[in-house]
Amino acid sequence: MAGYDLVVVGAGPGGYVAAIRATQLGLQTAVVEMERAGGVCGNWGCIPSKALLADADLYRAMRDGASRGLIAEGLRVDFPKVMARSRGVADRQATGVEFLFKKNGIAYHAGRARLAPNGVIVAHDDGTTESIEARNVLLATGSGERLLPGLEVDGEVVMTSREALADPRLPASVVVIGGGAVGVEFAYVYASFGAAVTVVELAATLLPGMDPELGQELAKAFHRQGIEVLLGHRFEQLTRNGTGATVAVRGEGGVRALTAERVLVAVGRAPLSADLGLEEAGVRVERGFVVVDEALRTSVPTVWAIGDLVGPVMLAHAASEQGVRVAEVIAGTRTVAALDVAAIPMCVYCEPEVAAVGLTEAQARERGEVHVGRFPFRALGKAMATGHTEGFVKVVSGARHGEILGVHMIGHGVTDLIAEAGLARTLEATTEEIADTVHAHPTLAEALREAALAAAGRALNI
Ligand code: FAD
Repeated sequence: MAGYDLVVVGAGPGGYVAAIRATQLGLQTAVVEMERAGGVCGNWGCIPSKALLADADLYRAMRDGASRGLIAEGLRVDFPKVMARSRGVADRQATGVEFLFKKNGIAYHAGRARLAPNGVIVAHDDGTTESIEARNVLLATGSGERLLPGLEVDGEVVMTSREALADPRLPASVVVIGGGAVGVEFAYVYASFGAAVTVVELAATLLPGMDPELGQELAKAFHRQGIEVLLGHRFEQLTRNGTGATVAVRGEGGVRALTAERVLVAVGRAPLSADLGLEEAGVRVERGFVVVDEALRTSVPTVWAIGDLVGPVMLAHAASEQGVRVAEVIAGTRTVAALDVAAIPMCVYCEPEVAAVGLTEAQARERGEVHVGRFPFRALGKAMATGHTEGFVKVVSGARHGEILGVHMIGHGVTDLIAEAGLARTLEATTEEIADTVHAHPTLAEALREAALAAAGRALNI
C-alpha cells in the first residue's frame, strides 16, 4: 500500500472511535497503540474503577440491609477477588476494542509512535522500528497521572489510581490527596470496604470546578459515611514509616499529621505530549497540551489531535465525540469539530453520585438574570421507596425565556439522569418544556421535572 489515509496514534476512547468513524467514511486507517486497546479509560480509568465502585455499592447494600430487615450474616470482603473482577472487566473491554478493529478492517500496530515526515515511525518492544506512511496523522495519546513534588510514587505505599487499580491489598487506612472525581471515587471504594479514609483537598469544596453546592453536599454525605474531608488543606510533606506513611498537610488551623497505610495521589492528569516528535514537526504545544483549531487540526495541516491530549475537558465521552468529528472533518463531511464545553456532561460515580451539564449557577449569573429550581430526593416517592433519599437536582434557567443553562445533580442514579438534561441543552429546551414532558411515576427522573417546575415558579411536590 502506498500509505494510509489516516494513522491514529493511541487506541483510547478518542483514538479507537475516530478510527472506526474514519473507516465508515471510507478512509484507509491504521492505529498504533503502545499498551492495550481501550486506553486509560478501558484499562486504568473509567471501566475498572466503575467495577470497583459497583462492588462497593453491593457490599454497602448487603451490610446496611439489616436496617430494612435484610440480614446478611458472615459478610466479608475477598478484596483480591474484587480486584480480579475489575481487571477482568478491563481485559474484556480491551478485547472488545481489538475485535472492533478487526470487524472494521482497521490495521492495528503494537508499538510506540512518533511523528515522521510522511506519517509515523513505530518503535516495537523487540527493538525494531517500522515506518507507517499516511496522509493524515491523528494524535490521541491521552494523559498520565500528575504528580506532586515530595510525593514520589513507589507502588507500595504511595500510589496513583494506576497502581491502586492493580493492587489486591485492601488497606486499613488511606489518605487521598485530591478531592476531584478520581479522589472521591477511590475514597468511597476504600471506605465502603472498611478503611479509615481522609480526603485532603486544597480548594474550599470537593469536586472543584463543579457547582459548589454539589461538593458541599458530597462532603456532608462522606461525613455520614465516616470519611474525613479536609478542605483548604495543602500537602506539605510525606514521611515513610514501617508499614505506611505520615502525611503533613497545612490548613488555616496549622499543620496536621495524617498517618495511613496507603497514600493515593489524585491531583489531576497531564497530557502525554512528550516523545511524540512534536517540536521537530512544528506542532504547537502550550503547557503540555497540543494546540488545535476549530477543526481539531494542529499547527501542522496534516496532523490532528483529540482527547486528553488537547483538553480542556479530560473525559472519555469528550474524547470519543472529538474522535467522531475529527474523522468527519478529515473525510470532508464537516468543517467544525470543536465541542461546546457547556454541553459535555460531567459525572462522578461514588454514592451519592454527582452529575452536571452546562453552566454553574455562578457562571450563569455572570451572564444575566436566572431562575434556580431545586428538588430534594427526600421528597420523591421513588427515592423514598428505594431508600436513596440523599441529594437534590438543581436547574438553572434564563429568567426571561426559561432556557436550561445548567443542571446539577447529586444523588443515587444521577449519572444516568443527566442524559435528559444534556438532550434538553442540545434542543435548547426550556423549563416549561421539561415540565410539559410526562415523566413516568415513580422514577428518579421525576426529580428533574420537579426542579424544572420549581425554576418555572410552579413546583408541585415541594
Ligand atoms: P487515553 O484513554 O489516555 O488513551 C491514549 C492511548 O494512547 C493509551 O492507550 C496510550 O497507551 C496510547 N499512547 C500514548 N502515547 C503513545 C504513543 N507514542 N504511541 C502509541 N500509543 C500511545 N472519564 C470519564 O469520562 N468517565 C469516567 O468515569 C472516568 N473515570 C476515570 C477514572 C480514572 C481512575 C482515571 C485515571 C480517568 C478516568 N476518566 C474518566 C478519564 C478518561 O479515562 C480519559 O478522559 C480518557 O481515557 C481520555 O481518552 P483519550 O483517548 O484521550 O486517551
